[in-house]
Amino acid sequence: MSNIKHLQPRKRVALIAHDHKKAELIEWALYNKGVLVRHELYATGTTGKLIEETLDVPVRKLLSGPLGGDQQIGAMVAEGAIDVVIFFWDPMESLPHDPDIKALLRLGAVWNIPVACNRATADFLLTSPLMHEAYEVLLPDYSQYISRKLK
Ligand code: PGA
Repeated sequence: MSNIKHLQPRKRVALIAHDHKKAELIEWALYNKGVLVRHELYATGTTGKLIEETLDVPVRKLLSGPLGGDQQIGAMVAEGAIDVVIFFWDPMESLPHDPDIKALLRLGAVWNIPVACNRATADFLLTSPLMHEAYEVLLPDYSQYISRKLK
């Protein structure tokens, strides 16, 4: 069983920002438009609408975060359908969908994908040459877990 996932040069990038972080993500996305347009963009509902309007680029929009959008992106991470997550979550506020946010961050760790939770990390990520190259993601080996015997 192979434990490698092959990423294409064109990445599937998910963008999410909480309400108090939306202005920051939009400004960041506008500054980085030249790089972002080379990839396939996904986003939670409201974030996606704002990015589409401001950058004039197509974004595949999922549900709004509190309505299940974070979980949809989490499911795509688990299926291998999202390669990179840029998630400007708000560290100064509790939100009704806090469990969904935690779940998405957890799946990023489970599937070893790059997740940027602030602007500095997003800058480092987007300026990496790996953003534009094929890349082999080493997947953790969960085979023992999957084949564990339960009585
Ligand atoms: P939104 O969702 O882009 O629909 O606002 C983001 C979130 O709150 O997780």
